[in-house]
Amino acid sequence: MSFHILVVEDEPPLIEVLRYNLESEGFRVSVATDGEDGLLMVSEETPDLIILDWMLPKLSGIEVCRRLRSPTINNRIPIIMLTARGEEGDRVRGLESGADDYIVKPFSPAELIARVRAVLRRAEPSLSEDKLAYGGIEMDLASHKVYRNGRSVHLGPTEYRLLQVLMERPTRVFSREQLLDKAWGRDIYVEERTVDVHIRRLRRALNGSDEADLIRTVRRGGYAIDADAA
Ligand code: CA
Repeated sequence: MSFHILVVEDEPPLIEVLRYNLESEGFRVSVATDGEDGLLMVSEETPDLIILDWMLPKLSGIEVCRRLRSPTINNRIPIIMLTARGEEGDRVRGLESGADDYIVKPFSPAELIARVRAVLRRAEPSLSEDKLAYGGIEMDLASHKVYRNGRSVHLGPTEYRLLQVLMERPTRVFSREQLLDKAWGRDIYVEERTVDVHIRRLRRALNGSDEADLIRTVRRGGYAIDADAA
C-alpha cells in the first residue's frame, strides 16, 4: 500500500522539491500552504505522515503541532518538522511540541526519504506479510482468523473488516465516515450510526469477561484501537 504524506509548506520551490522526491519514492502527496489549511487537511484526509514547515502563514508549524497533539484533538499522526533554524533550542522546542523528528533546511533528497521511512517504520505496527498484531490481538489475514490473548475470536465479515482497518493503524482515530469508506466501500450508502452498531458487536466479540476494552471511543471523533485506552 502506498503511504499518504501531507506536506504543509508555503514556499513553492520547496513544495516542488518535496513533492517530486516523495512521489518518486511512491508516496502519495497532498499539500497545504498555510497552518490553518494544514490543520483542516489533517482532519479531512488523515495522512500517514505530516511534513510540517516551522515558518508558515496564519499558524506556525509549531502551533499546528501543538494543537494536533493537544489532549482535545490528540492526533498521533507522525510529524516531521522542517526548520531553517540550526539552533539546538529550536529543535528541542519542535520535539517538545510533539514532533517525531525534524529536518534542517537545506536537506538532501536522500536524507528526506531516509527520515520519512524511519518515522513511518516506527509508527507501523508489528506488521509481517499477512498478520496484524497489536495489544494482544492477532489477525491472520490469510486464514481470516482472529485471536485475543491466544483465544480464538469469531467475527462477522463487517466486524472483521472494521477490526482490520483499526489494526492497520493502531492509536489512529478514524471517523465514522472513514470507517464506512474503508470497511463498507465508498459506493454503498450506510448511515453513520451503523458503524456504532458494528463497533458494539466487535467489542462484544473481542472482550472476554476480564479483558480490557481496547477500542477507544473519541467523542465527536470516531474510534481507535488503543492499548492505552484500557
Ligand atoms: Ca515556510
